[in-house]
Amino acid sequence: MSYQSEPLTMWIDRRLVLRKSAIHGVGTFAIRPIPAGQLLILTTGGLVLTAQDRQSGEIQLEPDMYNEEALPGNLSIITPKVFHYYVNHRCEPNAVDMSRSPNITQYIAWRDIQAQEEITTDFGIIGARVERCTCQSPRCRGQVTTDDWRLPELQQRYRGYFPWHIEQKIQQANNPAEGKLS
Ligand SMILES: [Zn+2]
Repeated sequence: MSYQSEPLTMWIDRRLVLRKSAIHGVGTFAIRPIPAGQLLILTTGGLVLTAQDRQSGEIQLEPDMYNEEALPGNLSIITPKVFHYYVNHRCEPNAVDMSRSPNITQYIAWRDIQAQEEITTDFGIIGARVERCTCQSPRCRGQVTTDDWRLPELQQRYRGYFPWHIEQKIQQANNPAEGKLS
């Protein structure tokens, strides 16, 4: 699979707004109720950078304003920090990142969301880290590590709702022989 820079397109549900968050910095909030299963945020495309692009210095970016994800083969994909970046962590979230490829980010309502509720996801299922979580949910794990997707409890709870890169890791962990062949 090869990756090319593509025009960035964004679809953001009109019931969502950005506000200051009590969890961390800026968050995404529902201004009206949103039923479970509905699409919240969809972004596609992005600027794919090669190692040469970086060395040339031609593309200069303000790191605060862009989100960067690593792609296989020393590539990375960058997108402006918009709604999909401002989804904070809770150990009992109301949204999941069901991205099915590196250049598509899509968040779906995991359960019914009330008006004024902050949109949150479990960083454990996207492979991100939280030093100290104080979400106070009964399931709070206290901290989130980049390996939390390995927890059987999480694999069971979010089965079928992991983003592509974690889904791949789970498959490789479950079928180590298959992973070696590819
Ligand atoms: Zn927590």
